[in-house]
Amino acid sequence: MTIATAIHKTTVPEPSTVGAYLPRSASFGRCRFCSAELRDVMADLGMQPVANAYRAFDQINRMEPFFPLRALVCSNCMLVQAQEFETADKLFSDDYAYFSSFSDSFLNHARRYAHESIRRFGLDCHSRVVEVASNDGYLLRWFHEQGIPVLGIEPTASTAQAAAAMGIPVHSSFFGVKTARELRAVGVQADLMPANNVVAHVPDINDFIEGFRILLKPKGVASFEFHHVMNLLRLNQFDTIYHEHYYYHSLATFRRILHEHKLDVFDVEKLPTHGGSLRVFVQHAGSGIHAVSERVEQVLREERLAGLDRVETYLGLNDRIRTMKHNLLSVLIQAKREGKRIAAYGAPAKGNTLLNFAGVRNDFIDYTVDRNPAKQQHMLPGTMIPILSPDVVFETKPDLLLVLIWNLFDEVQEQMSDIRSWGGRFMVAMPEVRVI
Ligand SMILES: [Zn+2]
Repeated sequence: MTIATAIHKTTVPEPSTVGAYLPRSASFGRCRFCSAELRDVMADLGMQPVANAYRAFDQINRMEPFFPLRALVCSNCMLVQAQEFETADKLFSDDYAYFSSFSDSFLNHARRYAHESIRRFGLDCHSRVVEVASNDGYLLRWFHEQGIPVLGIEPTASTAQAAAAMGIPVHSSFFGVKTARELRAVGVQADLMPANNVVAHVPDINDFIEGFRILLKPKGVASFEFHHVMNLLRLNQFDTIYHEHYYYHSLATFRRILHEHKLDVFDVEKLPTHGGSLRVFVQHAGSGIHAVSERVEQVLREERLAGLDRVETYLGLNDRIRTMKHNLLSVLIQAKREGKRIAAYGAPAKGNTLLNFAGVRNDFIDYTVDRNPAKQQHMLPGTMIPILSPDVVFETKPDLLLVLIWNLFDEVQEQMSDIRSWGGRFMVAMPEVRVI
């Protein structure tokens, strides 16, 4: 019997009255899309630091701001969204450390997308690909390599510099109506506009989507990738909730937003990235350039069957995530009582949500490791767990390796398979706590 299964048997289910004695807020503000009043909490993750605010070792004695972290659902349009509390420019600072190119599977995913799009939409040296949130050029490099003109739009200076070093031009700003108009005024229009993992991060969704309508050529295609809220609910992926995430979309809510801005979905693909994402292809409404795939209705039907059109479906998550926290703590406490040493793998934002919600600090986890040198020699926000290089795992030989980047669990198991040589085991918390 594994540690995890032994613990599961002794876990007492949590009464749903936890938190019932807190005063209920009359309102959490208004829906960022339809302006209806927000009253329903899908997940309450307590007070949390900003998930990407990694701290250098010399900041160990400084205070750290914490903010309430709640995901709300609009009972009018079903858009799941974060409670408003901070401004985007505070959250995404210049030393923002996420470099997409540090994951092999993510790079392969980007290359496949580029090659398929070039074929499907007939892109050549007369076309232009404008990527919104181009990060370190992890995607545009594959178009650039084929001689297709590209432009990245990226507000984060450190990642934009990495792209520029590869010869990829970058316009440094947030995307929205203002940026789209500025670019159009200097003759830039797009045949293809990929926007991957960014529609969750924009404070003003209406301004952002309107920018696509402005910058897209009449026959242009925009494509968006985002974590599918259906998977968040089905697989309890509550750790993907953090302050920088303003939205958790279903196809239905996203399509509704596009309609408001005279854009239409003509195709949708399911992707395994980030624990289950959607890639949505979009054209100008009424242009009819691309026939609407039957996959669109298929996904909408699945969402209705999963109850995503009813607010009650969203509200059940809160009890489930508390049970998961208790299971995780049980396994970690038992391991510590047995004298085991625990390390973690990865320093993703979602790991910070999980660890801060569970109250797991350097009292349980000695250190975590990450391949991204920009994150190394820093500490995870809130929990002060140091981030080191992956080599340290082989030097210190921990008994348990908690994989925080569960979406890349297979890749990590392969890379780190040598931990089995000293009896080390992998552990993962999503979709349930397991020791493998
Ligand atoms: Zn709404």
